Amino acid sequence: LAKKEARGSYRLVSAIDSTEAQDRLVLSSALRESLSKGLLNLHYQPQIEARTGDIYGVEALARWNHPTLGTIFPSRFIAVAEETGQIEAIGRWSLEEACRQITRWEREGVHIPVVSVNLSAGHFHNRSLVPMIAGLLEKYGLAPERLTVEITESVMMEESDETMNALSHIRKLGVGLSMDDFGTGFSSLSRLTRLPLTEIKIDRSFIMNLDHDPNAQAVTTAVIGIGNRLGMTVVTEGVETEAQYDLLERLHCDVLQGYLFARPMSATDLAAWARQPRMLMPAMQRTDRA
Ligand code: C2E
Ligand code: MG
Ligand code: MG
Ligand code: MG
Repeated sequence: LAKKEARGSYRLVSAIDSTEAQDRLVLSSALRESLSKGLLNLHYQPQIEARTGDIYGVEALARWNHPTLGTIFPSRFIAVAEETGQIEAIGRWSLEEACRQITRWEREGVHIPVVSVNLSAGHFHNRSLVPMIAGLLEKYGLAPERLTVEITESVMMEESDETMNALSHIRKLGVGLSMDDFGTGFSSLSRLTRLPLTEIKIDRSFIMNLDHDPNAQAVTTAVIGIGNRLGMTVVTEGVETEAQYDLLERLHCDVLQGYLFARPMSATDLAAWARQPRMLMPAMQRTDRA
C-alpha cells in the first residue's frame, strides 16, 4: 500500500508543473478527491486600514494540504481547477467556509469586519452563484457588507451580459465587489466606471517597484486617486517594506495587505493575531487613540 501511495504522489508531483493533458487529469482527480475529503482549507491574510492601523478585513486564500506532498499553493492548482471546471466546487466551498469562519470568529469574540473570497470567471456563467451567495448570508445570519468577492480584471473584461448581470446582482445584495490584481490586465479606465465595484486592489507588481521605479509610483498614485474619486476603497497587495508603507500612507491608500503586516495564516492563528495589540506599527504610534 505504501508503495502504491508513493507512486501516486510521485505521479502527482510530476503532474503539478506539467501542461500535458494526461497530467492535468491526474492533478484534477487528486484535487477532486482532496476536496471531498476535506483536505482543502482556507488561510486568511489580514488587511490593515492605513489611517488607523485597525484590521479592515481578511482575504481568504485556498491551501491544499496533501497527505504526502504537504501544502500545495493555489498557483499550482487554480489554473487546472479552472480548466477542468472544478473551480466551481472550490468557489462554492470557499464561499461557505469563509462565511462559516467569520461567524465562528464572532462567537469567539473576534470581530473581523469583512472576509474577501477569490472567484474565477467560470462562476459567473453559473446562474446559481447569486442565489447561493444570498443563501449563505441567510444561513449564517451575515450582513452582506461582511462579504467581498474578488475578481480579476480578466473576468470583468468579458463584459458579457451574463457576467454583468451576476456582478450587478451581487452588488444589489450588498456584497462588496473588488477588482483584484488591478493593472495587470487590459481594462480601460472607463470600465472602472461601468462596473459596480466597491474596491480596487492594485497589483503587487506595482507595489514591489514602488521605492525605486517612478513609473510604478506614478501608476499607483493615479489609481489611488481615481479609486478614491470614484468612491471605491483602494487596497494594495504585497506590501513588504516600511518604505512602501510610508509612501502608500502618504498617497492616502485606504487599505494595506502584505508580509510587512502578516502572512496568510490558519483561522486559529488569525484569531490570535487579531486579539494581540499591534503597537509596533508606525501608523499606530501616530494615531490619536490613547
Ligand atoms: P491574489 O488574490 O492576488 O492573492 C494574493 C497573493 O499574494 C496570495 O498568494 C498571498 O499569499 C500573496 N501575498 C500576500 N502578501 C504578499 C507579500 O507581501 N509578498 C508576496 N510576495 N506575496 C504576498 P497565494 O495565497 O499563493 O494565492 C495566489 C493566487 O491564487 C491569489 O492571488 C488568487 O488569485 C488565487 N487564489 C487563492 N485562493 C483562491 C480561491 O479560493 N479561489 C480562486 N479562484 N483563486 C484563488
Ligand atoms: Mg485576491
Ligand atoms: Mg490580488
Ligand atoms: Mg496578485
